[in-house]
Amino acid sequence: MLVDAGLGPRQLAERLLSAGVDPATVDAVLVSHEHGDHARGAVAFTVKWGMPLAGTRGTWQAAGFGAATLPGWVRLEPGTSRLFGDLCVRTVPVPHDAAGPVAFVLSAGGVSLGHATDLGHVSSTLVEAFRGCDAVLLESNYDPAMLRDGSYPWALKERILGALGHLSNGDVARYLERSLGSSCRHVVLAHLSQKNNHPELARHAAEEALGRAGRAAVTLELTSPDGTSWVDVGGGGRRGGVPDERQLRLF
Ligand SMILES: [Zn+2]
Ligand SMILES: [Zn+2]
Repeated sequence: MLVDAGLGPRQLAERLLSAGVDPATVDAVLVSHEHGDHARGAVAFTVKWGMPLAGTRGTWQAAGFGAATLPGWVRLEPGTSRLFGDLCVRTVPVPHDAAGPVAFVLSAGGVSLGHATDLGHVSSTLVEAFRGCDAVLLESNYDPAMLRDGSYPWALKERILGALGHLSNGDVARYLERSLGSSCRHVVLAHLSQKNNHPELARHAAEEALGRAGRAAVTLELTSPDGTSWVDVGGGGRRGGVPDERQLRLF
């Protein structure tokens, strides 16, 4: 299962191959929302490799997926679950300025991963959906001071800061300290702005929050634009080695 396809099909295929995954073995591409950094390469990738595309009706309409001849389309209803083989995909609505944006909870073999990239705040719906997850991937998009002092136009800064924009390092820290489910053992910080954040700021804020919550045993990873190592969701967070079905590669 590939979650989001913001890169072009060739780059996506190269990255999958570098992770030891044959692109033709991907069963479906889940698209969280229509913004280009998540959806731009989705049609071309699924047409080239022949798997269905899955997303909400709002994403379908706003991304213009109807204009393409797709190998398959699976409509996901926010708030419901659907099986793809033995993998259960739960679709969770999130607050973001898109037509039908969602997060996902992916479960298989008694292990589950919560995956939320673009959202303006952590809603009670999301907290509840992620409560039983063994691993959580969450955006830690910006540092407020870097955003405020940065070069973005004011309208864009306001959008990012708003309730339908993106999560700051502090938003993530508050979630980790107050609302992270007790079964979560791995946290992955993703979707860091290259202009308005620094990995060490994001890591520091999250580590401090986990420490305050008495959750220092939770492993913390950050994704990087160049790719990220395998994270073993079901086990002790061991990295490297040969991946099995309980691992995921994040890039
Ligand atoms: Zn977005
Ligand atoms: Zn995004």
